[in-house]
This record gives sequence, structure tokens and C-alpha cells, in this order.
Amino acid sequence: MPPFTPTKPISYGRQTITDSDIAAVVEVLQSDYLTQGPKPQEFEKAFAAYIGSKYAAVMSSGAAALHLCALALDVKPGDKVITTPITFTASANCVRYCGGEVVFSDIDESTYLLDIQKVRHLLEHTPKAERSAYKGVVPVDFAGLPVDMQAWRELADEFGLWIVEDSCHSPGASFLDKQGAERRSGDGSLADLAIFSFHPVKHIATAEGGAVTTNRQDYYEKICRLRTHGITREASMLQENHGGWYYEMHELGYNYRLTDMQAALGIEQLKRAEEGLKRRRAIARRYEEAFAGTPVTVRLVPEGFHHAYHLFVIEVEKRLELYNFLRERKIYAQVHYIPVHLQPYYKQFGWKRGDMPVAERYYDHCLSLPMFPALTDEEQEYVIRQVLEFIG
Ligand SMILES: *Cc1c(COP(=O)(O)O)cnc(C)c1O
Repeated sequence: MPPFTPTKPISYGRQTITDSDIAAVVEVLQSDYLTQGPKPQEFEKAFAAYIGSKYAAVMSSGAAALHLCALALDVKPGDKVITTPITFTASANCVRYCGGEVVFSDIDESTYLLDIQKVRHLLEHTPKAERSAYKGVVPVDFAGLPVDMQAWRELADEFGLWIVEDSCHSPGASFLDKQGAERRSGDGSLADLAIFSFHPVKHIATAEGGAVTTNRQDYYEKICRLRTHGITREASMLQENHGGWYYEMHELGYNYRLTDMQAALGIEQLKRAEEGLKRRRAIARRYEEAFAGTPVTVRLVPEGFHHAYHLFVIEVEKRLELYNFLRERKIYAQVHYIPVHLQPYYKQFGWKRGDMPVAERYYDHCLSLPMFPALTDEEQEYVIRQVLEFIG
């Protein structure tokens, strides 16, 4: 047999849609409610159970989830919030939606995660009088490796910060805390709020979609109100009551709802989440084995951490050349991420090349290889062969 060659491009990530997914969406289309029916709540209960949090509020996107977190935490002009430059821009943008200031801090080169020692250093070297402007931190479980949330909680408590965990890459990931207990990403036990995305490249696809998870009832209720125009029908909250139709708008909210069609898809997708995670981990093992002892750099997962592999990142000397080489061979690898502080929008606030040396060096060499449950063994072997051929 001639060696396998793909007939269509192999992207770095993509959704899996089954017949039962399609049937679930069609069933909603034939029902009474396309939106504001029973499916979003059903999805929320199932998602909270999977993540291990008390509450989940599903909404129209991960970015919307971040925005409502920033509102629930009352981010205001003058407030400073710390995050990583190696993330999708949305992790930072939520602070700007509320007029706050984004303070980037560099990553740890061995994990690519926001470096907690550097954040501690930043806070300790800020004069006491100015320290109170720092209100929160948004650590990101980049690529699917969870941050050490126990360590972040300790730091946050010491400096009076809240934590929003950006868990878009890490549903199902976990780590063992100092007491040996398993802590799942976004489980609400340590971070104040966590957010997820259901974009098709993520673990669970609803086309567009997102969620906030938390153990805090007050945040959960506020986020649910903000998701639907800031309107409440809750009898105990009403200032007046004119009858069955009556509602009140108490604050300026948005329409960030997830539709019933999307929620029905999410419910089906969630049933296969564990299976997908197992497949992602198997793909990662194969890449690690194939690149061991080669010039392709693959970072080790720290002891006690269970990676969810949204991405499989390698670092190589000639990244641009490898990217183009793979592209010509129908492999659509990607770069995650262009450091957010180098985006023109953030440069206007004074951020520049040289500010985050570890993140910038990482950016010059990183490449995300195809990583998604439907990637076949044959396709993966093809990807590996091309990378090794390029390396020589
Ligand atoms: C995907 C993603 C988001 C935003 O999600 P959307 O649903 O696309 O708005 C936020 N943060 C990270 C780290 C992401 O990967």
C-alpha cells in the first residue's frame, strides 16, 4: 500500500458530531422552544455535575462568560487585574469591557502557565498604597494543563484578590493538592469563578457557547440575571408586583443566553466528554513517544497534574518553516498564542516587545499539532512522519 496521504486538511482541532447529536438538535427544532426552554437548565445541571461545581450558568460564549464574571466581581475603572500574555485575547478583554486595567505578567517556561512567583514579586514590589488597586487574577489552564489553584488561592488570600480561572482548555483536567485530594479545573472549590467555552475546537462543542462555574450562590444568581438583560421575576426581589406578566430590570444586563438547540447539542457532547479526554491523552502519549530524543521540544507534565490536552504544543527552532512545510502537506498546525500584550490594542497602553521575555521566546518557537478525538492513528502517524522529515 502507498503511504497514507490526507484527502482534506488536518486541522489542529475540530469537533466530533454524531447521529445522536444531530437527532437531539432536530428534536428541539420540532419542539415548542428554540430558546428559553428546558434544555439550557438541563445542560447546566449535567455540566456542573461533570465539572464538580455547585453551579453552572451556560451562555452564548466563553467571552460572554468572562464579561459576566468581571461584572459580578464589580471590576471598575482604576482596578488592576493580572493575567497571562499566552492566552486567547478574551481572558484580558473582560477587564477592559468594565474599564479596568490589564496587567500582564510573564509565564513559566516549563509549563507555559502564568508564573506565580513573578506575580508574587510584582505584588510585593508594588508600594502598599498602590497595591489596593489590584483586585484580581485570571490564571489560564493553558493547553489543558491546570494551574496549581491551591497555590493561587493562598496568594490571592494574602493580597485580597479574587480569582477567575479560565478553564476553556481544561474541562476534565485535575491536580492533586498538598493534602492529596483531587481538584478538578473549575470545580469551584478554590477559584471564585471559572469559565469554559463550547467553541468547536474545544472539548465540548455547541457552535458558540460558554459557561461560568462556581460554588458561590450569590455570584451564580447575579450572573444569571446579567445573562438575561438584568431582569428578575423572583417575587422576593420585586419592588412592586402588577400581576403574572410583571418583571423588573434592576441592573444593566445583556442577552447572553444559550439557545435550546445549542444546549441540546452540549448535553449529547458532554456524554462523550470522558471518552474524548481519554483519546486526547492517548494521542499526546504517542506524540511524546515519537518526539522523545529529537530536537522537537515537548514539555513534561508536572507530577500530580492531569492534563486535558486541548492543545498539543511543540517548540522547534524553525517554527515558521515547519508551519509552512506542514501546510503544504495539508497539515494545518496553529500558533497559540500571539502574546496578548503585543496586540496593537494592548500596545496602546504601553506594552511592548521585551516586557514578557519568556512568553515572547515561547511565541517564537511554539506550534500546536493536530489534537482532537477524531484524529485517526493513520493521520497522527502522517503528522509525526512529516514533522520528523522536516527536522531531518
Ligand atoms: C476559546 C477561549 C476563550 C473564549 O471563548 P469563546 O467561546 O470563543 O468566546 C477564552 N479563553 C480561552 C483561553 C479560550 O481558549
